[in-house]
Amino acid sequence: MENLGVEKMRQGQRDAESISGLLQQVRQGQGNTADVPGLRQQECVYRLVRSRRKSLALQVSPDGSVIVRAPMRTAKYRIDSFVKEHWAWVEKQRQRLAEQRAKAHVITDQERREGIERAKQIIPERTAYFARRMGVTYGRITIREQKTRWGSCSQAGNLSFNWKLVLMPPDVLDYVVVHELAHRKEMNHSPRFWAVVEKELPGYRARREELKRRGREFL
Ligand SMILES: [Zn+2]
Repeated sequence: MENLGVEKMRQGQRDAESISGLLQQVRQGQGNTADVPGLRQQECVYRLVRSRRKSLALQVSPDGSVIVRAPMRTAKYRIDSFVKEHWAWVEKQRQRLAEQRAKAHVITDQERREGIERAKQIIPERTAYFARRMGVTYGRITIREQKTRWGSCSQAGNLSFNWKLVLMPPDVLDYVVVHELAHRKEMNHSPRFWAVVEKELPGYRARREELKRRGREFL
């Protein structure tokens, strides 16, 4: 469990303008919500536990549910406002939990063997295809299991790719291939580098985002 320091709860916040108008209670008896703009209501459900403590605290349980601990007499609107103020933190904790859960998925030996086989076939194919289009050369291609990266390109032009790219959508795999090949023109991540990537893959930003998002499940 994670606890959030409550010192952030400022005195002046008590008088936050008509905040109670924004807040409502749902699921009587089991959940409370603080209406955070841009979020669906059910995502803001929390369980309120009152006790003889002196301060407010937020907890995210291992299952992602949220508990707010509050003193006996703290007004509901102050609690809601506290939750609302710290909801971004809650989301961050939930994301961290999801990542931990995903990491807990152990790739079996068979999955790995088959994945590496597929990677050794698909990745050189895609590399050859894009290198031709982009007008670049490259040296050796190594397929390996890297802990922290999806691909790399050495000064000499040797490329290395993470076999787990074959667990990703093909668009994402292609993005990594184009990214590494673009380093054959620009050994950096300057605007010129990204222009090379964009020329080949105009929609690369979405692919890069997906790699970031889904990549957490596999690295
Ligand atoms: Zn790069």
